[in-house]
Amino acid sequence: MSRREHFDPQYDPAIAAEVDQLLARRTRDIRLKGEIMRLFRARIWSQTAKIIRSWMIWVAFLDVLTLTVNMLILPSATSGRMLLPAAIIPPVAMAVVFLWRKPQAPWLQAASLIAGMFLILLSVALVGVSAGGEFYERHLNIMLFVAITAIIIFGVPLAWTITNAALALGLYLAFQVHNPALDLGSTVAATLFFASGIFATVAARRIMTILAQKTFLLELRDRRRVTELAEANHRLELLASTDPLTGIANRRWMSETLDRIWGAERRCFGGAAMLMCDIDYFKKLNDHLGHAQGDRCLVEVARIIQDNIRRDCDLVARYGGEEFLVLLPGVNEDEAYSVGERIRKGVEAAAIHNPGSRMSRRVTISIGVAVQTADEVITPEELQRLADEALYRAKQAGRNRVLLYGQGSAEHRSVG
Ligand code: GH3
Ligand code: MG
Ligand code: MG
Repeated sequence: MSRREHFDPQYDPAIAAEVDQLLARRTRDIRLKGEIMRLFRARIWSQTAKIIRSWMIWVAFLDVLTLTVNMLILPSATSGRMLLPAAIIPPVAMAVVFLWRKPQAPWLQAASLIAGMFLILLSVALVGVSAGGEFYERHLNIMLFVAITAIIIFGVPLAWTITNAALALGLYLAFQVHNPALDLGSTVAATLFFASGIFATVAARRIMTILAQKTFLLELRDRRRVTELAEANHRLELLASTDPLTGIANRRWMSETLDRIWGAERRCFGGAAMLMCDIDYFKKLNDHLGHAQGDRCLVEVARIIQDNIRRDCDLVARYGGEEFLVLLPGVNEDEAYSVGERIRKGVEAAAIHNPGSRMSRRVTISIGVAVQTADEVITPEELQRLADEALYRAKQAGRNRVLLYGQGSAEHRSVG
């Protein structure tokens, strides 16, 4: 199948050119867009979604766990105030897990992730704000820690990452401004400190994404090269096994195929017949009408032979200059003979001019047939030698005839 028949965008020449162009840049300058970006997203989606889902599940689990521990060790008034805000996380996390089970519209993915993150961060902050005292600032720090883990491990578009980072810092600043334990100066200082940390995290995430994109581009290029190589190999193989003039298989292919069939499948087809076909007085045709006309005759005879055999199981090859070898698997003498006769009559009926022919003014063909029964042990070379011998006798007997080699005896049975 040709590459274009796949309709696979990664084999699109425009995509291939763009991949090469992107890979020629410095890594940090790699920017995917359009179709390649879409392919990249599709490629990493399941991995990204899996990471997001498991992060959500862990956050929900840790939320329940810390709340339980707080209930056990903190005064009930404090832990009681934590209960309501902490209860936000499990349903929100589960909603995100639910939406990220399978691909959704990009806006829905962005909205669910960003809204989910916002509510989770808000919940962590509110737990501290509600509990008050030492918990106020501690939970705002925990909230930033939660945000940083998400920023680093979520392989999502940079805009989503920046939004999450901005939301985390915004929440931090908004709540710290109202922190009774802090004055404005230390609030601004702490926010700037965390902002630079978060900025570094976003930058690291961006580099990770670019590296993942480069890996993806290399993968696309490798896959394309492997396909191109396989196609080139296939073309070479075809070229090496085809006769360029007639388009049918050549002798090399036939010999290899016979060895393979005899080696592996011989038992399956229960015997076979070989037909050695040779055009009569072909040299004279060349001499009288020229080599080009001789070539046209060869093409025509090859076509006639092909038209008279079974396309799905019989084999034909141009074996020599004007010789064709046909293999008919699973046929007996009578069937092999009638195929030979059909070919002979077909060539005669084509009425290809051959002024040098001594028997008629037309091209004729002689065919030697040798048959191997299912229970005989005989090599393809031997069978071919018998067919050759039958052909020789057909030539001697006057040409334009089909001759069967009598198996197991030197006797020949002319049926032409
Ligand atoms: P016979 O009836 O005994 O088979 O005689 P013949 O002339 O057909 O056989 P011979 O072996 O004497 O001649 C075969 C000729 O086939 C000789 C050669 O010039 C010609 N030939 C071989 N290959 C090609 C080819 O590719 N194109 C053409 N036009 N002629 C070829
Ligand atoms: Mg010959
Ligand atoms: Mg000949």
